[in-house]
Amino acid sequence: MTGPDDSHALRGVRAAELAPLPTRAHRQHRAYSCTNCGHWQRWFAHTPPPSCPVCSDVRNELPVDGFEFLRETEVDELVTTSWREAVPGVTEFWCDPVVGLGSHGWVLETAEGLLGFEAAPWYSADALAELRRRGGLRVLASSHVHGFGGLWQLQDELDPPVVSVGVHDLTWTKAFRVTWPADDRTELAPGITLHRTGGHFPGHSVLHDAGRGLFFCGDSLKIDLDEHGNAVALSAHKAFHAQIPLSRAELRSMREIVGALEFDTVFSPFEFARGVTTRHVTALVDHMLTNPPSAAPVPMDLLTTKVTVLA
Ligand SMILES: [Zn+2]
Ligand SMILES: [Zn+2]
Repeated sequence: MTGPDDSHALRGVRAAELAPLPTRAHRQHRAYSCTNCGHWQRWFAHTPPPSCPVCSDVRNELPVDGFEFLRETEVDELVTTSWREAVPGVTEFWCDPVVGLGSHGWVLETAEGLLGFEAAPWYSADALAELRRRGGLRVLASSHVHGFGGLWQLQDELDPPVVSVGVHDLTWTKAFRVTWPADDRTELAPGITLHRTGGHFPGHSVLHDAGRGLFFCGDSLKIDLDEHGNAVALSAHKAFHAQIPLSRAELRSMREIVGALEFDTVFSPFEFARGVTTRHVTALVDHMLTNPPSAAPVPMDLLTTKVTVLA
């Protein structure tokens, strides 16, 4: 367990005179995006990667008939990057048409500059110019590999002093350079803290903005929305595509960690919803602990009823 000592050290890094980071060390390689899931890999300039590690993983689906990859220029021509203010102080970035899993990136205004959490699949020149105009990123972090999107591109272009991912998930980070491997708890900006929940991935981490009551849940939750953007159901899973449930111990751990965080707005790597609170999430976990293992969505109506935990 990490604590205040890590936070102080992080502030020290911000204050220090930082040497340029070797984030462009792999420029002799090309970046390739899997057409099935969007995962970016650096690989040899004239040879696409033989496979995609994310699609090959048990949590995801293989493409129907072999792997295909897009180069940077192809993705840049294919998509438009858009952004808007999701809630005050948080900007959402996304791409149309959807490529891969279609992750959304969140940029939080903090007392110490902009903090990027998760990333859209691609950042156009206009999107990068917007981030530069606003002072660039001080911190860049992600919950886990399904939220990485074009995180490597943000590091190459904006070179934030801190790039943080859970230390247990470093195996997925070869397209960029993690400068701050996160343990169980790391304060990335005043009042904004990364907490390792594990479960979905061993290093899976959520971001909590205590001041604004915002919870960036990674894939610890899936939020089903109606056509108006209102949450109608929540689910939690070890694997969403494969519909593998979390284990009992993983659920109990999630309840302990997330139940201690106060929030009323939730952001996943794919959507956000107002009015989803700590109480809803603890009720979801309690519901799952009182029923056979399942990754199925639970209607919000059921999550306002108090249940007794039996398992
Ligand atoms: Zn893939
Ligand atoms: Zn995921």
